[in-house]
Amino acid sequence: MGEVVVTEDLWKVYRVGRVEYPALRGVNLVVEEGEFLAVVGPSGSGKSTLLHIIGGLDKPTRGEVLVDGVRISGLGRNELAEYRSKKVGFVFQFYNLIPYLTAVENVELPMAIAGVGREVRRSRALELLKLVGLAGMALKRPTELSGGEQQRVAIARALANEPRLVLADEPTGNLDSSSAKAVTKTFRGLVDEEGVTVIMVTHNIELTKHCDRVAKLRDGRVESVMRVRG
Ligand code: ADP
Ligand code: MG
Repeated sequence: MGEVVVTEDLWKVYRVGRVEYPALRGVNLVVEEGEFLAVVGPSGSGKSTLLHIIGGLDKPTRGEVLVDGVRISGLGRNELAEYRSKKVGFVFQFYNLIPYLTAVENVELPMAIAGVGREVRRSRALELLKLVGLAGMALKRPTELSGGEQQRVAIARALANEPRLVLADEPTGNLDSSSAKAVTKTFRGLVDEEGVTVIMVTHNIELTKHCDRVAKLRDGRVESVMRVRG
């Protein structure tokens, strides 16, 4: 098993006027290929900042992120855009599905943007919906789906361009406990059956039992990393 994500002494200092807010203060983390890692910690501890930097949505003030051995900071503009659209899949708390598109059309969207032909993207989108347990829901619109189902459509969409790494920022934050569990088990299945690597930020300690390890952040540092499975 290789290392998919390595962060080396990652710092992020936000400046607002003359005031500096250190959101990350030297984060060293290694995430193995095919691992389901939970990131927990109090609000403001730097969880979202960490995920955004790993995903190339934000830049660190200091330190490095390596993904599959490649330094993200060394990527040019186009390479970074390619990294974000092909290598990483993002899942957020609010599903951000397009309301006037059906489930299958929502999943197809990133493939359409990437230039995948109509037939290929339709069949792949249907397969992805099956993978997240929504085979019968392809033609439903978001308003006809429960929160948990919408989030699973968002997970299928995140997988559209076959990323090996999925970054999920409080994906169950808006869900009732049984939907939260279903969404977490969906990630578990992706890791076990597809070998995808998942990093999931959560406030819900109960859900971390489905993960392989739990990294706890506090004040921008990794306070502990615990193995819970395997
Ligand atoms: P978490 O996701 O763990 O709640 P965040 O990563 O969102 O924490 O934020 C970590 C810290 O960085 C917080 O103190 C937050 O207020 C600060 N922060 C986050 N984003 C910004 C920003 N764009 N400008 C200034 N401060 C920010
Ligand atoms: Mg956050």
